[in-house]
Amino acid sequence: MVPAPETGKIVLIANPTAKSGRGAAAADEAARLLWSKVGEERVEVLYTARALHATELAREVGPEVGCVIALGGDGLVNEVANGLMERAADDRPALAVIPVGSGNDYAATLGMAYQVPAAVHEILRFNTARADVGRVNGRYFVETLSFGIDAAIALGTVELRKKSGRAGTALYLESAVDQLFHHLDTYRFTLDILRAPEGLPPRRITAEAYLLAAQIGPTYGGHFRITPEASIDDGLLDLCWATPKLAPLRALAILLRARAGKHVGSDHIHFAQAARVQIDFDREPPAQVDGEKIEGTRFLVECIPDALTVVLGK
Ligand SMILES: [Mg+2]
Repeated sequence: MVPAPETGKIVLIANPTAKSGRGAAAADEAARLLWSKVGEERVEVLYTARALHATELAREVGPEVGCVIALGGDGLVNEVANGLMERAADDRPALAVIPVGSGNDYAATLGMAYQVPAAVHEILRFNTARADVGRVNGRYFVETLSFGIDAAIALGTVELRKKSGRAGTALYLESAVDQLFHHLDTYRFTLDILRAPEGLPPRRITAEAYLLAAQIGPTYGGHFRITPEASIDDGLLDLCWATPKLAPLRALAILLRARAGKHVGSDHIHFAQAARVQIDFDREPPAQVDGEKIEGTRFLVECIPDALTVVLGK
């Protein structure tokens, strides 16, 4: 059994390169605040040095650790969550997030403050909840999995950010306009709902769609509320797909409405819930999981209920 987050050791796993290097300063600030509030002996600070390093670090924290704080963007949170999920179910310290990144969707889902001092203050209240975790072809995710145009936009945003050194919503919109006006591809898929919500039978959905998302949390792509009703503790994935035919301007209008979760009334937008699904595409779509690229045409996706303890913000 892991100690309670209030009494156990705290490990801060920080990505020093997050947000073009601002991660290092944010980690120093967070470490100083944690040391001053709970004592140096209770806090350990670990820096990531390479991709997937955070997964190793989280997997290997000692039995005295009650809380692991991920300081970085959604990619780092995903890595830390994967490390925690590789531990036995009763041996997973609580997961907390200090958002320092370009995409902070999971931090928003947890209600975390965006300033380091406020986030540390919130974390040290240790207001915890139980959360579901998604799994796609063996890889865990905490917030989002999506295929098609939105994944292309998200991955395009990352490319633009790398090329330009800029950040923020403008980049996302730039990438979106490029995809909507120059691509607007569709992908044919079969979605087998293998485990439906209680009381409903399994079913098969076949569609041609611009996008398909399978969400634990409500947002992706930097706070677009693609599945505004998604709950992180109902044991279910929230699925959303968008079907043709949409002209680019109309698609852009729906995308912009999705920022506030206001796309739900469109005839082109469809929703379902499931605990486990298998998705088969007729060709490989752009795909992202918690903002990171994944590949393939066949995806087994499931919701693992009650998998992690998370520390909530407000
Ligand atoms: Mg859910």
